Amino acid sequence: MTILNCSATKCIYNDNRLCSRGDIEITGDNAHRADETSCGSFRDRTTAAMQNSGTEHCGCEKINIDCKAQECTYNNKCNCTASAIDVAGCSTDGCNETKCSTFACKC
Ligand code: SF4
Repeated sequence: MTILNCSATKCIYNDNRLCSRGDIEITGDNAHRADETSCGSFRDRTTAAMQNSGTEHCGCEKINIDCKAQECTYNNKCNCTASAIDVAGCSTDGCNETKCSTFACKC
């Protein structure tokens, strides 16, 4: 499994820059740059709390990643083979942008 460091502290699954979701999806089917990827599992902390999503906070260091960014060097049949990745995201209200900063295009 991959070690995930995540700066999207606005996400309800973020626990001290670790992800407590257990598995995440990275989107970006046709991505050729990191900016064209995003974390499909991001959930705004405020909105998700209102919906009472009932998450548990393990703050796991390692995580399963289902990655749709198949142009990435580390992508093997939608599995991430990188030993560690950084997901970048915002920490302020009204911002939902995330990306996989470790994305490296095969192109
Ligand atoms: S490093 Fe590449 S394969 Fe791994 S999650 Fe990021 S974009 Fe997907």
